[in-house]
Amino acid sequence: MKVIPLPLYYEEKEGQLILTDTTFHFSEELAESAAFFQQFILMKTGINLRSEKYAQINFVLDFNLGEEEYQLDISEHSLMLAARTDSGAYYGIQTLIQLLEYKDGKYYYPEIYIEDRPKFAYRGFMFDIARHFFGKGEIMRLIDLISFHKFNYLHLHLTDDQGWRLESEKYPRLQEISSRRRGTILKDGTIDGIAHYGYLKKQELKEIVEYARLRHLEVIPEIDMPGHMTSLLAAYPELLCSGVNDNIEVRSAWGISKDILCAGNELTYKILEDLLLEVMEVFPSRYIHLGGDEAPKDNWRNCSLCQEKIKKENLENEEALQAYFFNHFQNFLSKYGRVAIGWNDGLHPDLNESVIIQHWKPGTRKKTVKAANSSRKVIMSDFLYLYLDYPYAMTPLAKTYNYNPLKGIEKEENILGIEAPLWTEWVANRAKIDFQIFPRIAAVAEVAWTAPELKDYDSFRKRLNYLYPIYQKMGVNFARNKEIKPGFLKRIINTRSWWKNEDSEFLKE
Ligand SMILES: [Zn+2]
Repeated sequence: MKVIPLPLYYEEKEGQLILTDTTFHFSEELAESAAFFQQFILMKTGINLRSEKYAQINFVLDFNLGEEEYQLDISEHSLMLAARTDSGAYYGIQTLIQLLEYKDGKYYYPEIYIEDRPKFAYRGFMFDIARHFFGKGEIMRLIDLISFHKFNYLHLHLTDDQGWRLESEKYPRLQEISSRRRGTILKDGTIDGIAHYGYLKKQELKEIVEYARLRHLEVIPEIDMPGHMTSLLAAYPELLCSGVNDNIEVRSAWGISKDILCAGNELTYKILEDLLLEVMEVFPSRYIHLGGDEAPKDNWRNCSLCQEKIKKENLENEEALQAYFFNHFQNFLSKYGRVAIGWNDGLHPDLNESVIIQHWKPGTRKKTVKAANSSRKVIMSDFLYLYLDYPYAMTPLAKTYNYNPLKGIEKEENILGIEAPLWTEWVANRAKIDFQIFPRIAAVAEVAWTAPELKDYDSFRKRLNYLYPIYQKMGVNFARNKEIKPGFLKRIINTRSWWKNEDSEFLKE
């Protein structure tokens, strides 16, 4: 078996199905996947699968199977892929991409029987295009690569202190001012003085959404609020709290800004609602991410409007004001059939029950687990295991692989799944993106998809040897020789050196 993520059940046999002048038939309901498979075989082998009613390769509907489930039955004479939905068939094809072999001038499939379905319904990857901007082409390339790993959600972090990356028709200063910063901080603390800018037009975003849909991925937009909003505040400083110096600009440095949106000003609610309407017009996703992380309350404590709001709404304190703020937008989104996701910083007793929490913050897991064990729906993104922008010295491949999102969880049904973020403070180009993500994303895929009792790191390592040539053909600059976990001391030294020089690991390649 060479497939990653490892399928739920399989039986390997000795024979081979050799592809030559092969015939193909599929159920109409699976037409999109069938077209994808035909295209793959043509590109890879030059073979044009011939359509025929009684064919060697069959894609069939099976109503007994689950939403994302598939079965594969390959013998010396035929290949049958069964699924109930087009997405089930699509995941079967991702397995077929990995199973295809070539020897002595011939392409063939090994004789095998597979039954497979995912462990978690939510298998996400987050891409931050705010800290460093990446355009449509790069996002589409990543969509191809993560859907190949059987992920089904792409979370786009579109806004942050250092840049606003989506077009607004109603608030054009967001692309004119908020999408551009004067420079970028370097590891030695100096600013490089090179302007960094960019944003995606609505039309481009719609193309990304459609491209993702065809690959069975839902794109979740994130508008991070009320913190991480310096870029918007640089264009609309009237949304700052009363008494705050409004001479601010789009940040060149990373970290946390004290300048957050005023939650006592009605204009804040009006503008964000307008923006969310524009966001919903572009993104049909069920989920909209509203951020909610790292929002220092200094300004709120000293703001007459925020304090008035606290009194008027009978709120306990500034943390309760953030829950009120978040609930306001959850209620707004729910009118359009959407559900809000928030980072776990915003978890509060007043927070609306239907808000999904994305857990990331070290030292807060107990609180999240407690919430999940009552009734809160949670997506797990533990910082020390799933943050892909950190060095392999700090987060080795084996550590990510052995991550258990269900630790301490009693109500498994409340864990929707897992998500691995790539923040891009120190990720400025494609080579670095690939180095950070691959092969770690393969480990994440196995945590998300494979039944936990089947996980085995040694088996995973062996199977990576089949994945690497595929990465190479796809032009992926994956990190080499990261399979063996370094010793503790080496991890400390290399992690420290990463903090001093972003590319210490990367440049050794
Ligand atoms: Zn205020």
